[in-house]
Amino acid sequence: MSVALEPAENLYPFVLTEEQEQLRREIREFAAREIAPNVMAWDEVSQFPLDAVRKLGQMGLLGIIFPPEYGGAGMGYVDYVLAIEELSAVDGSIGITVAAHNSLGTNHIFLAGNEAQKKKYVPPLASGQQLAAWALTEPGSGSDASNARTTATKKGDRYILNGNKTFITNGSHADVAVVIAVTDKTKGTHGLSAFIVEKGTKGFRPGKKENKLGLRASDTSELIFEDCELPEENLLGAEGEGFVDAMRVLDGGRISIAALALGIGRGALDAALRYVKERRQFGKAIAEFQGIQWKLADMATELDAARLLTQRAAVLKDSGRKVTRESSMAKLFSSEVAVRICDEAVQLFGGYGFIKDYPAEKYYRDVKLCTIGEGTSEIQRMVIAREILKVSPSRG
Ligand SMILES: Cc1cc2nc3c(=O)[nH]c(=O)nc-3n(C[C@H](O)[C@H](O)[C@H](O)COP(=O)(O)OP(=O)(O)OC[C@H]3O[C@@H](n4cnc5c(N)ncnc54)[C@H](O)[C@@H]3O)c2cc1C
Repeated sequence: MSVALEPAENLYPFVLTEEQEQLRREIREFAAREIAPNVMAWDEVSQFPLDAVRKLGQMGLLGIIFPPEYGGAGMGYVDYVLAIEELSAVDGSIGITVAAHNSLGTNHIFLAGNEAQKKKYVPPLASGQQLAAWALTEPGSGSDASNARTTATKKGDRYILNGNKTFITNGSHADVAVVIAVTDKTKGTHGLSAFIVEKGTKGFRPGKKENKLGLRASDTSELIFEDCELPEENLLGAEGEGFVDAMRVLDGGRISIAALALGIGRGALDAALRYVKERRQFGKAIAEFQGIQWKLADMATELDAARLLTQRAAVLKDSGRKVTRESSMAKLFSSEVAVRICDEAVQLFGGYGFIKDYPAEKYYRDVKLCTIGEGTSEIQRMVIAREILKVSPSRG
């Protein structure tokens, strides 16, 4: 699988800084050297690329959105989106691993943690010595995440966790997991709290590792809690505020899924652009047929529109504004566009699009997660509708 090479000019609605250009260059070089040669082998056997992830940590990518005083690279969501797009253009599995670590697991601690928790957990996570997971979903509660069954029962100065989380990215490799559990089932969304659970805690273990359609090198696992005792200082944020904080975390997380989709879509489009110039039928390169050119034009235009929405959400997030609507729009649009682009890329490759020796089929498999993870497309539409209905229409 080769690396996308088009220049940055005109891809973004702003001129990249020298640091951002440097970030893209470093990621491309790293991806070409350490990721691209291995993606199909990792994919085939569902191998989690721990070495590559550790090296990304050394490059600062596991702490990209956190300040240097907490071991991070001190960049913002705009840089983060650039990074996730670059990585995902080569391998979405790496993209989702970095995204779940940064904007879900580590960010929940950074956002809701007290100073002692931030000082203890964020530096090793942000510097990449440790990996984070974030556990909201359960077998019986996905879209309806507030209906969780995992309980955290207070007993003296400890909480006892019981229950199962499912589909947790980085689940079996994470050193630290943020886990949402019910502390008071009479209080609905205000009866859920977040906890920090360290690997090796008695009563906590990863369960089944999922065998997936795509993103097969990423680690998606069950987490099992059986009388797992936590000291009360592992409560993250106020008791009863775990779900509300989780929704704030998702505002940032959804921007990273939009970037994951952008990257996978761009990888597929680049592969298709190369292929249509090489493949000859009816005595000419298939790129010369207008029917093919129109497909490519639509793919490129939709991808750029998705990037604009994603970068808007990132810019607003960096400015400190609430981005519930913007991150949902970016996630919804980018993921649906990217699914269409990857589908069309397979079509442009013809029979070779169906064969594993060519890159299109992997993009097609990987991209589908983007319309599902961190809230399905249907849930994004519910969020966007709720947000826009709050505002009175402009009388212009
Ligand atoms: C590879 C992968 C990685 C993941 N990583 C994580 C992770 O790190 N942490 C984590 O907590 N979770 C993670 N998830 C879980 C993911 O967020 C959920 O799968 C997702 O939110 C959907 O939940 P569900 O699978 O239970 O589907 P369901 O909620 O059962 O949905 C089934 C269908 O019903 C639709 N639907 C549900 N409610 C409505 C409604 N009100 N109106 C219209 N349609 C509706 C959905 O859109 C969907 O099409 C991951 C999932 C996967 C596959």
